[in-house]
Amino acid sequence: MDNYIVMIGLEMHCEISKSNAKVFSMAENSYEREPNTNIQLRDMAFPGSLPVLNKKCVELALKASMILNCKQPEYMYFERKHYFYPDLPGSYQVTQETKPAPVGMYGELVYDCKGEKKKVRINNLHLEEDAAACEHFDTFSTVDYNRAGVPLLELVTYPDMRSADEAVAFLEAMRSIYQYADISEADSKKGQVRCDVNISIMERDKDETKEENWGTRVEVKNVNSFGGVRDAINYEIERHIELKENGTYDDMQQQTRRWDEDTMTTIFMRGKEDAIDYRYFVDPNIPKFKLSPDWLESIRDSIPELANERKEKYMNSYGLSEYDATIIVKEKSISDFYEETIKLGADAKKAANWLTSVILGYLNKNEASIGEIFLTPDRLFEIMKMTEEGKISSKQSKEVFYHVIENKKEPAKVVEDLDMKQIGDDSMIRELVIKVLDEHSNLIEEHRKGKNVFDFFVGQIMKATKGQANPGLTAQIIREEIEKR
Ligand code: MN
Repeated sequence: MDNYIVMIGLEMHCEISKSNAKVFSMAENSYEREPNTNIQLRDMAFPGSLPVLNKKCVELALKASMILNCKQPEYMYFERKHYFYPDLPGSYQVTQETKPAPVGMYGELVYDCKGEKKKVRINNLHLEEDAAACEHFDTFSTVDYNRAGVPLLELVTYPDMRSADEAVAFLEAMRSIYQYADISEADSKKGQVRCDVNISIMERDKDETKEENWGTRVEVKNVNSFGGVRDAINYEIERHIELKENGTYDDMQQQTRRWDEDTMTTIFMRGKEDAIDYRYFVDPNIPKFKLSPDWLESIRDSIPELANERKEKYMNSYGLSEYDATIIVKEKSISDFYEETIKLGADAKKAANWLTSVILGYLNKNEASIGEIFLTPDRLFEIMKMTEEGKISSKQSKEVFYHVIENKKEPAKVVEDLDMKQIGDDSMIRELVIKVLDEHSNLIEEHRKGKNVFDFFVGQIMKATKGQANPGLTAQIIREEIEKR
C-alpha cells in the first residue's frame, strides 16, 4: 500500500428533501407513503404531460453551488439522458450534462479529515430527477413510482481524495452542508444519498500531476452508505494492488463494477467498450432561462451559518474545546438544540457538558435522535436552573434528566414526585455535623495530626441526608465546627 498512491473521485447523489414538491411536477416530494400513491401524470411520462420546473429546487441547488464555491451558469437548461429501464417511464432522465448548463461548475470544498485540512475540487454540481424505486425478488420485481421525479443533486469531484478515510470525511462534510443549509436531510438510511466511487492507483514514485501516469479507472456504482463507500474503496485498493503485484494490472480495462453489500465485494458490470451511449440532447419541453443576478444575490444572502462557522463560534466565543465543538456541530439537530438552550440563558460550557457527556450518551445507547425524546431545550434549561439555584444537587440533576425522558414528565414535577430537594438549610446541616463530630471525636484528633478524615465526615452527612445536603455548604460547616473544638 505504501508503494502506491490511491486516487479517488466521487459522484454523490443527494435528494433535495427540503423542497415543497417534486422537481417537474406538483406531487409531494416524498416516497414514504404507500407505494404508487404520490404520482402525477408527468411523473409517469403520460403522453402530452409536460414538465414544469420547480423554482424552489433550483434555488436550493444554487445555494449548494454557492456554498461549494462553484460558478453558476448565466443561462440554465436541461437535457435528456436516455436509457431503458422500468424505473424510468419516459425512457429518459431529465438532467444537466453539458457545460455550461449545470447549477455549479469548478468549485472546491475544504474539509476536515482527522484534524487535517483537505481540499477536494468539484468538477460540477447538477440538478436532475430521481428515477422510480425498483425492488427485485426471486421471481418478480416491484416498481414504486412515488420516487420518480424527486429532485436530485449530483456532485462530481476530481480524483483528489487519497484514502477511504478522506472520501468518507468529504461525504460527511457534504452531508453537514446539505443539512445546515436546509437543502436536504441527506439521510442515507432513507436512501437519500447514493454514491459512485471512481478509483485507480499508481506507483508512488511517479508524478501524479501528469495524467498519463494515472492508473486505470474503475467505477464502483450504487454504494448507498458511507460505511459502504469505505468498504468498497478498501476492497478495490486491495484488488488493484494484487493485480499490480502479479503483473496483470495493465491488462485491466476501464470498467464499471457494482458494490455488493451481502458479499462485501465489487462485481464486474461492464467494460469501456460496452459503455452506454445516453444520447443526450437538450430537453425541448423546458425552456432555457436566465438566472437573474438579483435572484442569485438573494439566494447567496440566505446561506445560513454552517457547521464550520458554528464550530469556530463555540470555540472562540463560548470557550469550548475543539473536541466538544466538533461533537456538537456534527449533527445539525444537536447544534440547534444547543443554540436554543443557550438562547434561554443557559451557561454555554455547562450546556455543552450536558450534551456531550449525558445527552449524546443517552441517544447513542438508545439509538434515538434528539427530536424523538421528551427532553427539549426548555426542559434541559429548567433542570440546569434548578441545579444552579441549589434546589437539587448535580447528582440529582442526572436522575431528573432520566426521569423526564423515561416518564415524559416535566422536571419540576419529577423533583416534586421524587421528593427531591437539596438541603441548603444551614442550621439543619450544622445540627447533623455536630452530632457526627460528637460520635467520632477521636477522628478530629487524627484530622489535626494531618490524616485526611474530612471526606469521611462529608460522607457521613451525605449518608444521613440521602445525598440531599448541599456539598459545598456541608464542607464549610464541617470546617467551621472542627475549628471550634
Ligand atoms: Mn445522476
